[in-house]
Amino acid sequence: MITKPFSPRDIFAQPVVNSSRVFLSPQRYIQGPGVIKNCGLYLSLINAKHVGVLASKRGFSAEAANVLQSLSEAGIEYSKAEFRGECSKEEIERHTNDLTSAKPDCILAVGGGKLVDAGKCIAYRLNCQVGIIPTLASNDAPCSSISVLYTVDGVKDVVEYFPQNPAFVIVDTEVIVNASERYLVAGIGDAMATWYEARVCEDNPVGSNLVGCRPTLAASAISEKCAQTLFEYGVSAAENVRNNQNSDSVERVVEANTLLSGIGFESGGLALAHPLANSYTEITRLNKKYLHGEMVAMGTLAQLAMENSEDLEKVTKFFIDIGLPVNLEQLSMHPLEQFEIDKVIDAAFKNPLIQRMKFEVTRDLILQSIKKADDLGTSFVKQYGDEAYKRLHD
Ligand SMILES: [Zn+2]
Repeated sequence: MITKPFSPRDIFAQPVVNSSRVFLSPQRYIQGPGVIKNCGLYLSLINAKHVGVLASKRGFSAEAANVLQSLSEAGIEYSKAEFRGECSKEEIERHTNDLTSAKPDCILAVGGGKLVDAGKCIAYRLNCQVGIIPTLASNDAPCSSISVLYTVDGVKDVVEYFPQNPAFVIVDTEVIVNASERYLVAGIGDAMATWYEARVCEDNPVGSNLVGCRPTLAASAISEKCAQTLFEYGVSAAENVRNNQNSDSVERVVEANTLLSGIGFESGGLALAHPLANSYTEITRLNKKYLHGEMVAMGTLAQLAMENSEDLEKVTKFFIDIGLPVNLEQLSMHPLEQFEIDKVIDAAFKNPLIQRMKFEVTRDLILQSIKKADDLGTSFVKQYGDEAYKRLHD
């Protein structure tokens, strides 16, 4: 069992820190309606003999049942591991211990973002490959070699890095269109941050990506394509998923939310939107109520406000159209609850990622940016209404 944490900077950012360009991605990305039924076939590519399948109790009677059937058809043995809902150290340790004696050569994580991240941690500890089968397009977790761990109360704890990206990411769009529209929309919130954060890291001559190196042109191009795809197809894809219908828009947006956003944030880099989103988890009552991508949406607006970006109005209006939160009230916070805002700012300020911004980021600047974005969001809600937000949140 591997117990030593892996640090990609010790490999990639040496010996000349920040000057080399490094690009990471999953080894295989497969997306389409019904592809989950072929997962045994895909796993034959790595000659898998025994697979540990991580899914929730609900998942084992739904998507994961199809996975198990496909593994059986391909003659691959499996052990089942039931996920209890939080990507915490305790949960990861429990499954690692349970699966050790089976000696799996791959962990298949079938579920949402936290389950996916837990699957990567378990595979690293068991020194085997990991395959990701996301059942939601709500986050940028599936493709990266990074997991975010939370406390049992859902407060962001630590980030773990791994030497390998997933061997497979298998996205069955038939599964995605049968999930709630709100998950796809949250994924759009998460993915919309990608380009704006990657752009900061690219423009700043000392900016770096998640492994401490310069971003490649490929990562920038992928991030920019991600934002373009969401602006163009986001609203129609959400409408299709509301009616549980697949379409070209859905396929494009699922790829943007999962592949483009995943590669974009890891290889392109993060700036303010994600640190701020993770800081909102300090307000524990928000954790049960809001998804990661919804908090990232709020972080993106604050980052654009901080940059005085001309895209602030465009993105705010797009979030209104699609039903993402655009002001503190829609995140169940109040601009005058200074104690809560201070808690968020304190957590964000401690995160070294915010220093990727080209200028010095002070506590006061974060506060002014949150307020500026909140004011604009509130005036846009008055002007354009909050129909989409209410549909997803009532
Ligand atoms: Zn994210």
